[in-house]
Amino acid sequence: MRQVIVAANWKMNTTPADAGELARTIAARTREPGVIRVICPPYVCLSAVRHALVDDDLLAPDGIAVAVGAQNVHHEPAGAYTGEIAASMLAGLATWVIVGHSERRRDAGETDELIGRKLRAARAAGLRTILCVGEQLDEREAGRAEAVVDAQVRGCLAGAELGSLGVEDGLPWLTIAYEPVWAIGTGRTARGSDAAAMADAIRRTLAALGIPNGGEGVPVLYGGSVTSGSIGEFLAEPAIDGALVGGASLKPDEMAGIVARAGLTAAARRATGPGRPLAAPSA
Ligand code: PEP
Repeated sequence: MRQVIVAANWKMNTTPADAGELARTIAARTREPGVIRVICPPYVCLSAVRHALVDDDLLAPDGIAVAVGAQNVHHEPAGAYTGEIAASMLAGLATWVIVGHSERRRDAGETDELIGRKLRAARAAGLRTILCVGEQLDEREAGRAEAVVDAQVRGCLAGAELGSLGVEDGLPWLTIAYEPVWAIGTGRTARGSDAAAMADAIRRTLAALGIPNGGEGVPVLYGGSVTSGSIGEFLAEPAIDGALVGGASLKPDEMAGIVARAGLTAAARRATGPGRPLAAPSA
């Protein structure tokens, strides 16, 4: 039974002065059994967010209730990399990290190989990772979306040197966020059925790479202009395990609606139980 996850990517928003209060408000309004909530503020707000959650007893030490995540990490453990943050530096601040976000691919020129090295560094530091993949609009229109995402997953996992990391455990440290680039921050979303088809395709890629159970244990999230109004379309798809939320994740009302809907999916999965088909509650 895969976990249901809602991750908030605050991007370059909030300050250390206001991030703690926002995290506290969101955490208090999104208590849903079985939904893993991850708040990913800017680096400089990690401490404020963590402390706010600890003070209100909202932070789970094992990262299961409300977890804190970083939005990026460097691929090297230390050295002359001005302005960068190594995975080990996140100890005590974050238990998750986003890697390969399309805004970093676009603005920082991150390649699949580099993203793979970040995955490897994060995994070595004991972080759970959200690997972002997704096609451009022209690639989807040309019918190449699945081929593009397949190449991204293969390239990133090759960069992570998966063979030497070992795949026998089914990669419990890995979550994949399918984020069509044309849907990020645009107000456009993919169709739920297209996102589910992509999640299936991602799991076929994982199976081809030898991940046990054909990658069935790896959560696949949808990301791209998710709101409380659109989340239902994605979570009605058994292949989709939650969402990576950008703009709407700064709004407590939106997060409350999104996580409430995720709670329905988590409850349905609990009721259905492992080893049987996952129920798909309507929106
Ligand atoms: C994101 O930042 O990963 C994202 C999906 O942003 P938005 O929800 O704003 O499209």
